[in-house]
Amino acid sequence: MKDPKQPSDIAREALKRLAVRHLQPTPANYQACYNEIVGIPNILPFPEVPLRHLATQLVPRNERQQQSLDLLDSAIGRRSWQCVTDALNTFAQAGLASPSDGPAASPAASLPGEFAGKLARLVEGVLPALGEDNSRVVEMAGELVLLLKQPTVEVPSVQALLANLAYQVCAAAEEQVEIKAALLKLLNLIIANIGELSVDDSWLKGQVDGLLSAIAPPLTLRHLDEMERRLRDVMDRQGRAKSRSVEAQAEMRQMLAEFIERLASMNRSSSEFEGRIEESARQIELVSSLEDLRPLLNDVINATHAMAEETALSREQLKALQDKVLITEAELMQLHQELDSASALARHDPLTSALNRKGLEEALLREVSSVRRKDLPLSISLLDIDNFKKLNDRLGHDAGDGALVHLADVTRSNMRPSDTLARYGGEEFVVLMPDTTLEQGIEAMTRLQRELTRSFYLSGKEKILITFSAGVAQLAPEETGADAIRRADQAMYLAKRAGKNRVMGG
Ligand code: GH3
Ligand code: MG
Ligand code: MG
Repeated sequence: MKDPKQPSDIAREALKRLAVRHLQPTPANYQACYNEIVGIPNILPFPEVPLRHLATQLVPRNERQQQSLDLLDSAIGRRSWQCVTDALNTFAQAGLASPSDGPAASPAASLPGEFAGKLARLVEGVLPALGEDNSRVVEMAGELVLLLKQPTVEVPSVQALLANLAYQVCAAAEEQVEIKAALLKLLNLIIANIGELSVDDSWLKGQVDGLLSAIAPPLTLRHLDEMERRLRDVMDRQGRAKSRSVEAQAEMRQMLAEFIERLASMNRSSSEFEGRIEESARQIELVSSLEDLRPLLNDVINATHAMAEETALSREQLKALQDKVLITEAELMQLHQELDSASALARHDPLTSALNRKGLEEALLREVSSVRRKDLPLSISLLDIDNFKKLNDRLGHDAGDGALVHLADVTRSNMRPSDTLARYGGEEFVVLMPDTTLEQGIEAMTRLQRELTRSFYLSGKEKILITFSAGVAQLAPEETGADAIRRADQAMYLAKRAGKNRVMGG
């Protein structure tokens, strides 16, 4: 038989266990260890005080919850865990039932003042974006803000108003989207119409085509800025060309008037001359002496001189006029040529000098029909700069623009003369590679990636490594160029998904 342990031994052992198990030296932990050593079940005391405290925190929202709280009270009094559990369950269940089960027994919860204030500011702040011209939204928002500015703001009232406002805002937002689409359509129509009105002017037509491709959705602020810039350019150049040709026309008219005036005066002087000669002839018939003839001869000689001078002057003036006409004509020709070359600019992106969307469309048609005629492969690559937004955010928009120019330059100096580079969108480029298979196309893009790791882009003194993800597609028989670009785009997307800075075949 084992000796029963002495209480002092048990106490020492219990303290040791507390230490070994890293337990807090609380009376409850000490008692648990003690009971374990002695071998008696460790029954914890009934936590009446904390339970009563808990009960006071529960706020009944209906009759049934009130009843379950009464039950809880007596369960605690009877120290019955089961009854306490049942009463708490009933309380929770009754909370889920509709409030119509009984009148609310306590006032509704209210929003903390600071939160209500922030919510009010948020609603006021975003109201312009929600549609200040929509009276229902304005009314609902006003009501909500008013409520939020009350000293105490009850949650259910805020909830109801918020739900209403959310509904109205959804409707307003849908309307805004439709308005935007309708405005774009209208703009499209106006620009197309300007183009139709001026079919003879190839420069304007080129500009208008460029504008039409620039207003393709999505509509972004950058996009709108670019459009405004182009429209202003069209208007400026048109204005200048128009005033210059109006001037030139006025000059021509003026010269014509002088010309006619000269002709008339020549006529006048020659008829005057004829008159004087006739008169002299008559006088000559009448005179009998040579003496008398001399003044007459002088008259004739003078008149002839005057006539000759007049004619020489007229000839000189006519010649000068003719020269002026030629100069003005040449000037007008040059003006036309300048406008025509500006029309060629309408096919290029002004920043990178790569073709723009319009230029790409034309080049694509040309290349596709050329490779089909010659039975050659055509590969199309779509490349998109990686993490370009970050570069813009970190170094500024101008540095971003510089990076685009750098990429375009490096690409141009690494592609074949027969390849075509176009800016497809913000930081996306397309390279058309005739007489190139898919494998060769992928190889060319991989080479370009390597080249970019060698030729850094310098922003100030900082060396920036530009990487891109690219998708390459080889034009399939019967496929349109646009469809091949779409396949290249999908492949580019896969390259992004696979971790960027890589080339995928489509
Ligand atoms: P990812 O690697 O997934 O392509 O990310 P990303 O940041 O390159 O692509 P994202 O489409 O998110 O952002 C493109 C950015 O390119 C956003 C836009 O402001 C910027 N961007 C577009 N056009 C121009 C431009 O002409 N100049 C500059 N500086 N930035 C442009
Ligand atoms: Mg992109
Ligand atoms: Mg990108």
